Amino acid sequence: MNPSVPDVTPTNFCPRCGVAFTCGMRAGEAACWCAAYPAAFAVPAAESVPDSGACYCPTCLAELIEARRAASGR
Ligand SMILES: [Zn+2]
Repeated sequence: MNPSVPDVTPTNFCPRCGVAFTCGMRAGEAACWCAAYPAAFAVPAAESVPDSGACYCPTCLAELIEARRAASGR
């Protein structure tokens, strides 16, 4: 309805820190940067994310992976 909305609007808001970012998948691309990360963190648990299909921003995803690795990787 609004012709002034740019097509570069971020597709996602990080559920952890709230930063706006664009997920390649939701932007219509074949692959997303998150595909390079372990699948366990590519998509958060449904109960922790109000909008299904949301994922973490690059910064939080990297931090969460490091946290899990430190907690369980001994
Ligand atoms: Zn984040």
